[in-house]
Amino acid sequence: MALTFAIIKPDAVEARLTGRILARIEQEGFTVRGMRLQHLTKREAEGFYAVHSARPFFGSLTDFMSSGPCVLLALEAEGAIAKWRTLMGATDPAKAEAGTLRKEFGQSIDKNATHGSDAPETAAFELGYFFRGLELL
Ligand code: ATP
Ligand code: MG
Repeated sequence: MALTFAIIKPDAVEARLTGRILARIEQEGFTVRGMRLQHLTKREAEGFYAVHSARPFFGSLTDFMSSGPCVLLALEAEGAIAKWRTLMGATDPAKAEAGTLRKEFGQSIDKNATHGSDAPETAAFELGYFFRGLELL
């Protein structure tokens, strides 16, 4: 069993989609091991997305991620990282496949409802960035 890190982003929390997204997470067979509602500061969002610091959208991305509360999640499943990326769909909701979370709930490439780690190393960094070991049950 593997763990991945996921976020229900501020756009989806504001649109009251948290319950529907959590329902999909459980229906698809993930076990929630950690969960917290948190309004990130700009600095926390910058640290989290540090790999994108040179990208032109870094400022708008970190403004958006610190614009309201989000739901931080540690999700467990077999092949959790790839399984969660598949359930989310493509970064741009317009290009995401039918039935994916970003197709169903995302509004645009920046307001795309969810985040997911993209590799074992990033999952380890991201889980450790937001959760202490004691918070993972
Ligand atoms: P995430 O890391 O949020 O799960 P991702 O791994 O699918 O998304 P990344 O390439 O890591 O995509 O980009 C991180 C985030 O930056 C995306 O979720 C999106 O909100 C934003 N982003 C990516 N590319 C663009 C772009 N060309 N224009 C605006 N925002 C973008
Ligand atoms: Mg990414």
